[in-house]
Amino acid sequence: KGSNGNYTVTLIPGDGIGPEIADSVKTIFSAAKAPIEWEEVDVTPILKDGKTVIPDDAIRSIKKNTVALKGPLATPIGKGHVSLNLTLRRTFSLFANVRPCVSIQGYKTAYDNVNTVLIRENTEGEYSGIEHEIVDGVVQSIKLITREASERVARYAFHYASENGRNKVTAVHKANIMKMSDGMFLTACRDVAKEYPNIAYDEDLLDRVCLRIATDPTPFADRVMVMPNLYGDILSDLSAGLIGGLGLTPSGNIGKDASIFEAVHGSAPDIAGKGLANPTALLLSSLMMLRHMSLYELADKIEKAALSTIAEGKAITGDLGGKATTQQYTEAILAKLK
Ligand code: NAD
Repeated sequence: KGSNGNYTVTLIPGDGIGPEIADSVKTIFSAAKAPIEWEEVDVTPILKDGKTVIPDDAIRSIKKNTVALKGPLATPIGKGHVSLNLTLRRTFSLFANVRPCVSIQGYKTAYDNVNTVLIRENTEGEYSGIEHEIVDGVVQSIKLITREASERVARYAFHYASENGRNKVTAVHKANIMKMSDGMFLTACRDVAKEYPNIAYDEDLLDRVCLRIATDPTPFADRVMVMPNLYGDILSDLSAGLIGGLGLTPSGNIGKDASIFEAVHGSAPDIAGKGLANPTALLLSSLMMLRHMSLYELADKIEKAALSTIAEGKAITGDLGGKATTQQYTEAILAKLK
């Protein structure tokens, strides 16, 4: 927080539709008189010692501000490039990926009452990248689970539940099969649960949760689900599908040294530069960011303006079945903030 009472936040507009949807968020924030100053940085990879890396300025800015809002980054095709998203995750130890999925009134899907929060361990599990061919035709891939990372993500899940009015944490697992690895994940969750006597704790099998969520998501509205990396990857897209797809789903990457909030969708090259993109997912991500910064009232105010605009259906973008441009949708939200 600066001397003028404003918070400085790093903004990475990103590629494709990124700059268009980032503009929309900036306009909405200034209309809502948000005490946020954006420090815009470019993360276009540069060549350093023969490797593509993120410019130092961008890293420095995120380190200093500890909070960033990020547009989608197109993953360059071709060899020798590291995924920028992966680089950011490693650089800032972004250990927990938080994905809320809430039904949007005015966009009809199979269920009207989805309200799930899923927290995914983001640094290990099947994504450790430890694979090798033992003999011709036999490959081994190692799922790495550590007590430390399990405990860290479990603790964040309980913290998130208590901050956001959810009274239960459910650990999602396959410890019936992966007795040692998922077993240790569960032990870590159970131990952390003891530190939070006011939050209930239970455990459920991944396959059962998939079946139950797809059958009726209602019972999941009271809790936070926490799970190892791969399970979270899959279950979070299942939940996103229940509310109408990736265009409406925000996410937060919570880290040791910084937290980065972003839409779940990519750079949408097919509609980039045409003013057709739906900025809702990035806007909802920015509201997660405000709540992360304890600016709850401001987040509620902006959320109400955006969600009521969608519910009215007069100025919604093409992906939601409307005809509005990004700008027309943004202006409809601005009118409600006045
Ligand atoms: P995508 O999410 O960019 O697009 C999929 C489809 O959804 C497209 O038809 C697109 O037009 C539509 N869409 C996505 N967001 C929209 C929005 N806000 N409003 C309206 N329509 C929207 O997925 P993709 O095409 O597979 O990926 C494109 C690029 O984005 C790739 O380079 C990929 O690596 C990258 N990507 C980045 C991230 C990230 O930075 N976190 C995530 C996913 C994909």
